[in-house]
Amino acid sequence: MRSPRIEINLKKIAHNARALVNLYGSNGIKISGVTKAICGHSEIAATLLQSGIKTLADSRLENIINMRKNGIKAQFLLLRGPMLSQTEQVVKTADCSLNSEITVLKSLSKFALKLGVVHQVILMVELGDLREGLMPDDLNKTITQLLALKGVKLIGLGTNLACLGGVIPDEIKMSQLSSIARSTEKKFGIKLKIISGGNSANYQWFKHNTTVGLVNNLRLGESIFLGCETIHRKPIPGLFTDAFELVAEIIEVQQKPSRPFGSKGQNASGDTPSFKDRGAMKRAILGIGQQDVNITGLTPISDISIIAASSDHIVIDVHESNLKVGQEVRFQINYNALLSLMTSSYVSKLMI
Ligand SMILES: *Cc1c(COP(=O)(O)O)cnc(C)c1O
Repeated sequence: MRSPRIEINLKKIAHNARALVNLYGSNGIKISGVTKAICGHSEIAATLLQSGIKTLADSRLENIINMRKNGIKAQFLLLRGPMLSQTEQVVKTADCSLNSEITVLKSLSKFALKLGVVHQVILMVELGDLREGLMPDDLNKTITQLLALKGVKLIGLGTNLACLGGVIPDEIKMSQLSSIARSTEKKFGIKLKIISGGNSANYQWFKHNTTVGLVNNLRLGESIFLGCETIHRKPIPGLFTDAFELVAEIIEVQQKPSRPFGSKGQNASGDTPSFKDRGAMKRAILGIGQQDVNITGLTPISDISIIAASSDHIVIDVHESNLKVGQEVRFQINYNALLSLMTSSYVSKLMI
């Protein structure tokens, strides 16, 4: 079997997706399945659709284009605010996008009219995490301009927290979003179909509140794939946290000193690391490195530990285990490791 590889358990992903659809659905919240961490992989996308998810959301147009090309039929939402230079392609490719810039909306409108389509728009509201979104005070001005445009239709408001600033989507933030939505509907005499409250970080808010206000949508990636919420990275009860595993092959096992010997300068990464002298030890090398995976996101499943890594090698301490060249070792992965592994063309993707 090819190494390194990421083993992807579609049954576990399906279970997680269905459980989250049911959980949030119990209080009127629909799930958009976020496919960016899996680079829009079409078998995984199809699994999400078979599990009760109707909308697929991705931050990259390339992934949406690929999913469509591979026959995935869904509503597609572009998560990252469109680049002005992409607007024609966005209108051609995505049914809906998250937006915050009127210049971009004008351009989307222009191309939607040219193509004879209506592009749906969710306006993002900044509630403190300081990534995308209009400050609440600036919202009405943009909505006034947006409603005057043809070819684009305002279908909802959204917010995104816990991504850049680590701001928690708590009851205060979610009530704020609901009240902004309520006053927007009233002021402009419109009905907003979607109030999108956030991402996998919204789990605690949902669990600890009996009312969700007007929030009726969440965009979920990590909790579907890795089975956890993202404020404390605690597992969500009943979900699988091991739907993905990394497998890498041992290419060298040797008894060596634990501390580098010779006069020392920088290593390949430009660091000058120091190692404790623990005497002689058995060290193994894996045929995978920083070009393939974000090393900090790996947790060994067996009794080994990572010592260090360079672009194509990870050096491990094999402890007491009797590992040999050609054998494989397994790792649990976090979101950043998942992102990098799915992106690397050197890592094969095995569905199990
Ligand atoms: C990535 C992303 C999400 C999904 O976040 P998860 O933590 O993986 O659930 C939701 N919304 C936006 C705007 C995103 O960029």
